[in-house]
Amino acid sequence: MRIVVPAGGIGGARFLRGLKAALGIDSPVPEEQSTNAITVIGNTGDDITLFGLRICPDLDTVMYTLGGGIDEERGWGRADETFTVKEELAAYGMRPTWFGLGDRDTATHIVRSQMLAAGYPLSAVTEALCDRWRPGVRLLPMTDDQVETHVVVEEDGRRRAIHFQEWWIRHRAAVPAQSIVSVGAEDAKPGPGVLEAIAEADLVVLPPSNPVVSVGSVLGIPGIREALAAKTVVGVSPIIGGAPVRGMADACLDAIGVETSAGAVAAHLGADLLDGWLVDEADAGTEVEGIEVRSRPLYMSDLRTTEAIARAALDLGRELAGRKGGGE
Ligand code: GDP
Ligand code: CA
Repeated sequence: MRIVVPAGGIGGARFLRGLKAALGIDSPVPEEQSTNAITVIGNTGDDITLFGLRICPDLDTVMYTLGGGIDEERGWGRADETFTVKEELAAYGMRPTWFGLGDRDTATHIVRSQMLAAGYPLSAVTEALCDRWRPGVRLLPMTDDQVETHVVVEEDGRRRAIHFQEWWIRHRAAVPAQSIVSVGAEDAKPGPGVLEAIAEADLVVLPPSNPVVSVGSVLGIPGIREALAAKTVVGVSPIIGGAPVRGMADACLDAIGVETSAGAVAAHLGADLLDGWLVDEADAGTEVEGIEVRSRPLYMSDLRTTEAIARAALDLGRELAGRKGGGE
């Protein structure tokens, strides 16, 4: 069974760990195991250049989480991390100071930046980085083109667009967003292998990633949404009981005028895309026209519970695949 998963950072990565367990793929994957059962289309809208380094937070979160290098407690960055470089940069008065640039993590950014400067596309760079981490999935950037999520805010009576990371980390999404813009998306092309992987997929699973800036960014690359919609698509709600479980996704939903509820997010993603939608037991009874909704516990507290969520998504996907005409 071939599965495509468009994913952001922490929510996507944790779900993928459960999906791998459900499919019997070890973490990190041993040399001899095939890794093409799961193709991840990683969000690169959060990417940012700081201190001359190209940083891809969501690709790295997926790579580290599945490769065994993640800081489990924080959910991002490397385990056993230190922040000496960050402190030294601050001592030179270098801005910004709000980005959590870890020392171990910096090595990844140096390798990436050097390869990009040498002319390799991000997809090739990501593949090279994954050679070390062996995440057990094919990790494809949604695009090799530069696409960055910017947030329009009002500061001192003036409208200003800031990078998503500045809004998210520095302002903790507490400054109301007037709009969220995927800069460069219109002219971007899906990364190499992305449309092919979707075409070959038996099932598409949307993990509980941020529906606006993670899944939304992937869907915003011309051609990807249409390709996914032709497949059987099952999603896992990132909203439980009217709240994002971890993080501040509600601020993103507010910005695009979508209510923070499991049903509203499914309706926003659309019945043309979604065939099935898993909601938490707290949201049992949710109905969305044209989408098969099932309820079960969706809190990813540990690997076993996450594996069970992934199994439920696979089961629903198999069931619905039989009903969907064409494309399969
Ligand atoms: P980010 O890029 O690091 O913000 O990560 P993602 O976009 O992949 O995922 C973030 C989203 O995951 C959050 O907005 C939450 O709504 C969702 N999330 C986090 N933990 C859980 C969980 O245990 N269960 C569910 N259903 N959703 C979760
Ligand atoms: Ca992200």
